[in-house]
Formats: sequence, structure tokens, C-alpha cells
Amino acid sequence: MGLIRSWVESANAPDHPFPLNNLPCGVFSRHEAKPRCGVAIGDCVLDVAALEERGLLVLPGGPLMDVPVWNKVMQAGPQVWAAVRARLLEMLGEGSGERAAVEPHLVPLAEVALQMPFLVSEYTDFYAGRHHATNVGTMFRGAENALPPNWLHIPIGYNGRASSVVVSGTAVRRPWGQVKGPDHALPAFQPSRRFDIELELGAVVGTPSVGPVTVAEADAMIFGYVLLNDWSARDIQAWEYQPLGPFQAKATATTISPWIVTRAALEPFRCSTPPREVPLLPHLQEPGPMLYDIALEVGLTPEGGRETVIARTNYREMYYSAAQQLAHHTTSGCPMRTGDLLGSGTISGPAKDARGSLLELSWGGKEPIAIDGGTRSFIEDGDTLVLRGTCLGDGYAIGFGACSGQVLPALPDPYRRP
Ligand code: MN
Repeated sequence: MGLIRSWVESANAPDHPFPLNNLPCGVFSRHEAKPRCGVAIGDCVLDVAALEERGLLVLPGGPLMDVPVWNKVMQAGPQVWAAVRARLLEMLGEGSGERAAVEPHLVPLAEVALQMPFLVSEYTDFYAGRHHATNVGTMFRGAENALPPNWLHIPIGYNGRASSVVVSGTAVRRPWGQVKGPDHALPAFQPSRRFDIELELGAVVGTPSVGPVTVAEADAMIFGYVLLNDWSARDIQAWEYQPLGPFQAKATATTISPWIVTRAALEPFRCSTPPREVPLLPHLQEPGPMLYDIALEVGLTPEGGRETVIARTNYREMYYSAAQQLAHHTTSGCPMRTGDLLGSGTISGPAKDARGSLLELSWGGKEPIAIDGGTRSFIEDGDTLVLRGTCLGDGYAIGFGACSGQVLPALPDPYRRP
């Protein structure tokens, strides 16, 4: 399938991130007005909430867009998702007779602020990239014990904090925390000196579940995907993570891109997970291709400086898909909710410059990487980190919008009283 042409001319450029094929879901505000649901098309956002108000978009069980988040649509399930997409394709397609009715509801992207696209119910983060797990395991535990014995059998995860999730553009404050002291000395409480990113993809759960679901059922529950930066304080993490996993190291912030790219838009880019090193138990086996071919990159811009792309990789490097992770998440009977967010785990490729964290790129700070005007081992104050994702189709591209955040200096000691 090639580019689906639209009467919104800017959407027809072969490298534009928001062609008619994409139709990603976001929430925008313009001037001081209240946030509203919108869909990106070319250089504009289409005010779909207004279309629903005017009766141009009639959905079963509606209104579904009378709240400034996509959760009601997400909860309505795959038939409604397909209906929204079909109707938008009809209204925005080249030669549509409805152009005159729809055009007044287009707002230039340059004039809007983008908000959280959905209300995050709960947030789970995984550790499902083979190269990342091997790299980090080697640094933390040595090459012999790099991969934990369970790793090839289940997607390892931990329960994160929904309250930490923020939209792209939100500044991130360097955290304080407890870190290991020198041998036999007390630990220290200080601002993190090894603050880092994790390049991930976030899966957004649409339809809820009760009880265990299969991998195929899990795939059908996923509404779409966002880019996700799991900000990580490595010094805090190294001290706290055993035996229950990350805690405060990952609780400062988690940034997501402002657009949910729907599963329908990603369909042409499906691909299989890499070959299994050991067979999975039947309930975790992939019934069809469940990953996506999404080219990813990370940019770092020092304050007042120019951006350097520090990593390039692809989501297809993951060992487990989001559908496998979601299926595993439900095996205990754990109910999943509309708005649950699942982080893929850091996406690293085999090459040195395909690593999705500074911890790996600088090999624990031992091999600082070159950036514009200097070097980096970990994030310095004022640095802006941006994640980007693109699927390259036949004459068109699918973009996610930037997932960006600037790191601000730590505040003074939060416990010191004058
Ligand atoms: Mn992570």
C-alpha cells in the first residue's frame, strides 16, 4: 500500500510524518482554550471533538470525545477504532465532498500546545531487549551472569508509576537519591550523577481484560504506540535494585510522545520477533508477526549547542513484543485497564551506536561519546534529549512526533532546613 492522498496538501509529502495513512491521536490546546481531542494530518491538527459535536462523526455509544483524553474511544474497542479511522479517511481523502464542512476544524500545528493524549491508568516497564539486557547485565554482574536465568523464558518487568508519566516538552528535574558509599562507609544522599535515558516504545492498552489472555487477544487489546523515555538514575538504581527491581531510580519522570500512533497505521510494518534461543512455553509463543519495523533515533542537544544524534536503532530488535508482554502480564489473572501503559524495555541494537541508553553508549562512563562541542558519559544539566521514530512506507512515512525533555539542575537539598 502506498500514500493515501488527502486534500490537506502538506500531508502528501513523501517524508511528512503525518500523512492520511497515519492519523495519530493527540490532545491539543490553542491559546487559552480547554484541551480537546485531535488527529494530526499534515501540518494541522483536526479537531475531531468538534466533528463529533457537529454530528459529522457519529460513534456508537457516543459522545466519546467530549473529554480531553482518548480513553473513552480506547475503551470502546477495535470496532469503534476502525469506524473512527474509516470515517476520517472518508472526510480527509482527496476529492472528498465534505471538505467544506471539515476544513474549518483544521488548526495549524504551529499554533497548538500538545497535552497528554490519554489518562495513564497504570504503567509497567519491561526489560525485553536482548542487546540491552546483555550490555547492562555485563556491566552490573559480569559477562558470566549477564542474562538472568529467567530472561529467555519470560519478559521481565516491574510495576512503575503512572504518576511519573509526562508529555513531550515537559522539563525533567535531576533527582536526589541514596547511592552506595565507598566500601564500609555509609551510603550518600545526593543529586544523581549518572542520570540517563532509555529509548523505548510504549504500548497503550485500549480494551480492558479480566483473567489471562492469549498473545493474539493481547495484540487486539492494544490501541496504539507512543515513544517512551524511561529516565533512569543509574547510581540510585545500582544501589536499590536488588532484590525487588528498580524503584526510585525510575520514578522521577517517564516522557511519552504526544501522538498515539494506532495499530491500524502500523499494520503494514509488522515483522516477527528474532529467532528464539530456547523455545517459549506455548502461551507466550507468537501466533504471527507482532513487532514493527520502526526506525528510532536519539538526539542530544547541550544547552545553547547543536544536536548530535547519539544512537540509531529499530524496534524490531526486541526479543519480546508488546503483545507477548501484555499476555504475560495477565497470566496471574492481573486485570488490565484501558489506559495501561507498557514500556517495551530499552531498544538497543547489536552495533555500538545502536544502544538506547547512555549507560551502554558510554559503557558505564568508561568510554564517553563525542557530541557537539564535547563528550558525554551521562546527562548534564541543560541537556535536551529527544527520541524520534519513523516507519518508512512505499512513498510515505509514519511519524510519532518528538519525545523530548530538557534536564534541569537538581534543587537544593530537599531535607535541609534553614
Ligand atoms: Mn526501562
